[in-house]
Amino acid sequence: MSSIDHDDWQARYRADLVSTFATPSLLLHHGQGAWVWDTDGNKYLDFVGGIAVNSLGHAHPVLIEAVTRQVSLAAHISNLFASEPQLELAERLKRLTGAGEDGRAFFANSGTEANEAAFKLARLNRGDDGRKVRIVSLVNGFHGRTMGALALTGKDYMRAPFEPMVAGVEYIHATLEELEAVIDDTVAAIFVEPLQGEAGVIELPDGFFTRARELTQRHGALLIVDEVQTGAGRTGDWFGFQHEGIVPDAITLAKGMAGGVPIGALITFGRASQLFTQGQHGTTFGGNPLAAAAANAVLGEIEASDLVGNARERGEQLKAAIAGLDSPLISGTRGRGLLIGIALTEPVAEQLVTEARAHGLIINATGADSIRLAPPLVIGDIEVDEFRTRFAATLAGAEARFASEPDGEPNGKVTA
Ligand SMILES: *Cc1c(COP(=O)(O)O)cnc(C)c1O
Repeated sequence: MSSIDHDDWQARYRADLVSTFATPSLLLHHGQGAWVWDTDGNKYLDFVGGIAVNSLGHAHPVLIEAVTRQVSLAAHISNLFASEPQLELAERLKRLTGAGEDGRAFFANSGTEANEAAFKLARLNRGDDGRKVRIVSLVNGFHGRTMGALALTGKDYMRAPFEPMVAGVEYIHATLEELEAVIDDTVAAIFVEPLQGEAGVIELPDGFFTRARELTQRHGALLIVDEVQTGAGRTGDWFGFQHEGIVPDAITLAKGMAGGVPIGALITFGRASQLFTQGQHGTTFGGNPLAAAAANAVLGEIEASDLVGNARERGEQLKAAIAGLDSPLISGTRGRGLLIGIALTEPVAEQLVTEARAHGLIINATGADSIRLAPPLVIGDIEVDEFRTRFAATLAGAEARFASEPDGEPNGKVTA
């Protein structure tokens, strides 16, 4: 790998790409397991995993083999034709989610697209008298950036520049009181994330899912669970909804399900499986044999190596390790399995991300005062130990810096 001048590639990035993203600080070249290397040959422990996408880590042999094999057969055939990988994936997801015989799958290419399909599903749940036109989602929830998914997203600052929104969505706080007040016979669906990942790995109040299930069932509304970030083993259950033992009407999936190959899915349960009729939705790429083969390989490996159990166990180890660091900058941890939010006592998340990079650790800020960890599900003792060491050094570095610079504005330039 050739060394590329740092300022030069950042200048190119700014000149070449639409400025929706902040200019990145690293130019990555390749990865192996939970590790990535930049173009200067520096090595980092990757505890973001492409934002909860790289379930098997980087360059996993099972994924390499499956993708290589499928691309040499047929990468894409369109939905005018069927493929064995797609059928196998639909059957696998019906089994893993518990949707079973009555379940159905619709494949898309991303999380936001999976939620667009779910939004249309909700519109089809009008009820016999056509009165069900309201859709409920949660304040601070995140469902994606396309117009339908954006309308579901409970963050004003994301929606405001793009108004008018798709009509009919209302936002409630995640409390039992607001839930009980909002659900009636005019509600078509409620969208809920098991853990609000983008909001900082925020947990739902105990019993929220159970109550949401009771109320939606009583009033004929769909309970749609956005598992784009939490699905496919991430939280130490196969799917986040299983934590409270409820059965939803539909879930959406994407991030971790194919280890980095773009895919999304809507899985419907029971009567919700009969709402779409022929011609009401579609996609060119969705569920193509390449993406389906990648998802089969990733989900197959998660199952064969019990990475769901590993996520649960490693998550507990990481939380204990973080608590053991006993830092004045940390007030606690949230989340389940390998989707962990670290609550900070000061709004220093960005500074910690920068400091961590200097110690060869990649973490992610989900706001001024929270850090998110979403490492590959394959991490073992070595990665947990390396995280502890590198994060301890990060905190020590940050604490020393804040002590010497009372304004708390550390120099953002990295010389890794
Ligand atoms: C990331 C995410 C999305 C959007 O997925 P994209 O693949 O980025 O479109 C939707 N919902 C949740 C819960 C997510 O975490």
